[in-house]
Amino acid sequence: MRLCLIAFAFVLGNMTFLHAQSGRKPLTTPAGTPILTASGEPVYELSSTATIPYTNVAQLDSVFMQKSYGDAAKRIIAHALKDSIAYSRLQYMCYTFGSRLSGSQNLERAIDWLLQTMKTDGHENVRGEDVKVPAWVRGEESCVMVSPRPYTIPMLGLGGSIATPAGGITAEVMVVRDFAELTRRAAEAKGKIVLFNAPFTRYGATVRYRSEGAIRAAEVGAVASLIRSVASYSMRTPHTGGMRYQDSIPKIPHAAIATEDADLIAHLTERGEKVKVRLTMSAQTMPDAVSRNVIAELKGREKPEEIVVMGGHIDSWDVGTGALDDAGGCYATWKALQILKELGLRPRRTIRLALWTNEENGLRGGVDYAERHKNEKHILAFESDGGIFTPQGFGFTGAPELLKVYTAAGTLLHPIQSAALKVGGGGADISPLVAYSVPQMNIEVENSKYFWFHHTQADMPDKIDPLDLNKCAAAIAVMMYVAADLP
Ligand SMILES: [Zn+2]
Repeated sequence: MRLCLIAFAFVLGNMTFLHAQSGRKPLTTPAGTPILTASGEPVYELSSTATIPYTNVAQLDSVFMQKSYGDAAKRIIAHALKDSIAYSRLQYMCYTFGSRLSGSQNLERAIDWLLQTMKTDGHENVRGEDVKVPAWVRGEESCVMVSPRPYTIPMLGLGGSIATPAGGITAEVMVVRDFAELTRRAAEAKGKIVLFNAPFTRYGATVRYRSEGAIRAAEVGAVASLIRSVASYSMRTPHTGGMRYQDSIPKIPHAAIATEDADLIAHLTERGEKVKVRLTMSAQTMPDAVSRNVIAELKGREKPEEIVVMGGHIDSWDVGTGALDDAGGCYATWKALQILKELGLRPRRTIRLALWTNEENGLRGGVDYAERHKNEKHILAFESDGGIFTPQGFGFTGAPELLKVYTAAGTLLHPIQSAALKVGGGGADISPLVAYSVPQMNIEVENSKYFWFHHTQADMPDKIDPLDLNKCAAAIAVMMYVAADLP
């Protein structure tokens, strides 16, 4: 299968690492500094065989954009800002169906409602495309400090973790700051619960303790592992997310605690106290379930077989409601499609909305999409999965000629301060399309608070400003319309 070309090493929450892409180099600045995505992951160059879908790209400058699309952009922006239907619908979905973990009824009920609503709205080719997804169920869980004093610690098991025995695991906690310290003190770890107390630097770096912590702790004989939540701020909210095991190494339960409680345990142990906790988890991995990618289209008027695909992921973790991660991305792109439809702006090529399933703990929606549609001609893939905040512009990975074209298109977004194009773009769900040389784009937002809420009980609709959602939809609608319409 062609996907082995792109070894998906891991899906880590909402970011995928693309490893060992055959023959593709990580991009660097002229000074040799690696170019990283917003979450700190390397950006790879696309195959140079990627074709340029437009004729005469040299003339597609900002003057051309103003002349050809200035009016359309103004209409799109005005239309996007005139009501808050997208936000109302996001609230409706999040509050009615709740969190949307793969394999859950919540997710499938939300998808049923989305499909029905999109059909009622009159979108074209609305359909669900079946995808088999993993079904992990959290169950009851708790973490209690039993000495030096009784103290309840809010916790969240990490997605994919095994359960503890019924009575829990009670053991002394060994606190380490990083993997190097664990290696140095490996002899002390046997029979203990290892707490990785790694401070948040950037998501891509800190998330390693979540994804690999159980493997590394089990390797040195630990009976369970905890992490300091991957969070840039905390109100004692633990953050869940994906983790993995390695076949040759015993599986141990793996959970997250809030940063405040990691500090507390570290403080106690540093001054010589023995800290013991009882960790109880009843998580189960059930047989795979059937979910769906949600598809709707605006068929192209001249080259309907050429496709700009855009979307977000409809699944979420099983805490909060996944409002920022990633209902917001779904509703911004859905609204973008709606705006174009309502304004009668039918581009030359097809714009396809795809709300992918199972990004969080499997990426099977994105993988299925790429495989199922691999013989279609995608000219651009776009994803919004970094939260909905004030938009600033776009990230792009693809041919330099196309970067120039989209930078020129970005000037249409000066009225909403979203004109900036930066090198390096993409998203987990569209990353499987890299194997087919499809250029990758994402929206860039003011995301300094994203990791306050990411994968927590607090990821609720109140974290999204309806005006930001509208601005994101406007920016996406303009960029996708131009990308799909250029001669
Ligand atoms: Zn996400």
